[in-house]
Parts: sequence; C-alpha cells; structure tokens
Amino acid sequence: MINVHMDISVVVPLFNEEESLPELTSWIDRVMAKHQFSYEIILIDDGSKDKSWAVIEDLKKDNNNISAIKFRRNYGKSAALNVGFAAAQGDVVITMDADLQDSPDEIPELYDRIMNKGADLVSGWKQKRYDPLTKTLPTKLFNAVTRGMSGIDNLHDFNCGLKAYRKDVVKNIEVYGEMHRYIPVIAKWAGFTNIQEQVVQHYPRKYGTTKFGAGRFVKGFLDLLSIFFVGKFAKRPMHFFGVMGVVSFLLGLVITLYLICHKLMSIASGTPFRDITDQPLFFLSLTAIIIGTQLFLTGFLAELVSRNSTDRNNYQIEKVI
Ligand code: UDP
Ligand code: MG
Repeated sequence: MINVHMDISVVVPLFNEEESLPELTSWIDRVMAKHQFSYEIILIDDGSKDKSWAVIEDLKKDNNNISAIKFRRNYGKSAALNVGFAAAQGDVVITMDADLQDSPDEIPELYDRIMNKGADLVSGWKQKRYDPLTKTLPTKLFNAVTRGMSGIDNLHDFNCGLKAYRKDVVKNIEVYGEMHRYIPVIAKWAGFTNIQEQVVQHYPRKYGTTKFGAGRFVKGFLDLLSIFFVGKFAKRPMHFFGVMGVVSFLLGLVITLYLICHKLMSIASGTPFRDITDQPLFFLSLTAIIIGTQLFLTGFLAELVSRNSTDRNNYQIEKVI
C-alpha cells in the first residue's frame, strides 16, 4: 500500500441519518476544497434501520474522499468512534455528528490549533445551544461534575460531538460503552494533556430526532464513577457488587458513628449507659462493615478481570467501502 500523506480525517458516527448525509458530505467537501486540505470522510453506519447505507453507497460513487464502515447492528456512538479512530489516516482527526448540528466551517481553526498551537485535543463548546432545556440543564450538571472529577477545568462541554485530535491521541485511546462522553478525560489519562476548547456554532437538528434518551445520563454517570474507581471502564453489571459493598459498608459506618455519638452524649450528660458492644445494633454495624468490605473487594476483582474481557469491543462489521 502506498502511504500517501493526508491532512485530515473526518470521522462521522451515524444512526438513521439518511436525510442529512448528502448535505453534510458536500459541506465538508466545500470547506476542504477552500482550504486545500487533503482529507477523507469516514462514515460509520452504526446499524441504521433507514436508508442511510444506501445513501452512503450512492454518495461514494462520485466522491473518492468518502469511505464507510457498516456495523451489523447498533452498537452505540462509542463503538462507532472507535472503529473510525482505527481507520483514520490524517494528521488531524475530526469527529462530527451527522445531523448537521455541528458545522464543518469550524474545521480549519480546529486543525490550526492541533498543528500550530500545540493542542493534543480540541473540544468544541456549544456556547449557544439549540437543544431543549430538558437536555441542556442535565448537561450543565454533567459537565460540572466531570470537570470537578477529572481536573480538566478549562472545558465547558465534554460531550460535544465536534472535536479534533492529534493522530497520536486516537491511536492510543480506546472508547467503548458510554465513553464517548469522556474522551477528553481518557486522553488526559493517556498522557495527552494539552486539551483546548473552541467555541463552535451549533444548529438545531434539521432532520429526525435525537438518538439518545433520558437514560443516557444515568448510564454515563455510572461509567464515569467506574473509571474513577478503577482507572478504566469495565463491564457495567460488575459494578453491582461493588456498589452493594459500598452501600453496606456505609450503612455499617453510619450505625457505628451513631452508637459512638450516643455513648459520648451519655458520658457528657452523666446518664448511665450500656457499653455499646452490648447492643445488637453494634453487631449489625460490624457485620455490615465486614460484608461491605468483602463485596467491595469482590466487585473490584470483577472489574480487574473484566478489563481484559474480550467483550469490550465485540462489534461486528458487516461491510467496508
Ligand atoms: N449516533 C450513533 N449511534 C447511536 C446514537 C447516535 O452513531 O447509537 C450518532 C448520531 O447519528 C449522530 C451522533 O451520534 O450523528 C449524535 O447523536 P444525536 O444527534 O442523536 O445526539 P444529540 O445531538 O441529541 O446529543
Ligand atoms: Mg445531534
């Protein structure tokens, strides 16, 4: 294979976006031509049930810059990004949603930050957002929590679909589960610390509806907790044991604290008291602490084991064009 240098790879995960694709690809083409970038557009069809794949095949006929990967079924945005990252050849890799909410006009500035301003990753900030309040409010909270936990305090909008990466970054990170929401965090942990933000245009969704329901925040938050506990994302069902352990441990701790306070107050007030070790509650709290610790350790072991599980990226690719 001849190794031809390429400036930019645009990676687009998509699920049922048949209407947007012609406009999106021609818009990207226009921007690239204007700035004379060499580029590829990698479309990842994440198991669409509409005519997205037929549209892609059609677009590809007249456009050599397009390549596409079709999943056998819907595996989620993270899986789609992950295969896009593996396929990308450009010096700079841009990710972008397919629904025309992100603007390809941002690409030149994103590229410039990576190539000339030292950024490893540039994350878009949809400062003026065209989404309903039910979506923007939880997102604000999500971003504040992620900022606090990750220490990346210069980002306002972790989950913006429009991002740019130095090629090294995408070749050294792995995204799965709900991890697409935390890519800057994963990149930071992998040692890519120059993370910048760029205010980007955001448009209302032109066709179709959002592909993410309300459950996304809960799932995403559990994934975040798990990476902070274990350092890496693991299988979600495994968290059950650890969570039960923590609950039991905390319960034991609360009862113990209560008993200690009770005892201290009895001493202070001079009223007679029974030794706390006599109380049935004391044994309950001790049991809860011991069981809690054991369960937590079991959960922890499960996490460690599942880190190497083959389950992580078991998506199946049906076609590549
Ligand atoms: N998407 C995907 N797989 C999914 C869900 C979404 O590839 O399972 C794509 C979707 O087609 C779009 C991008 O991810 O290109 C962002 O999705 P969406 O616009 O629905 O999210 P929102 O903008 O509402 O956060
Ligand atoms: Mg969208």
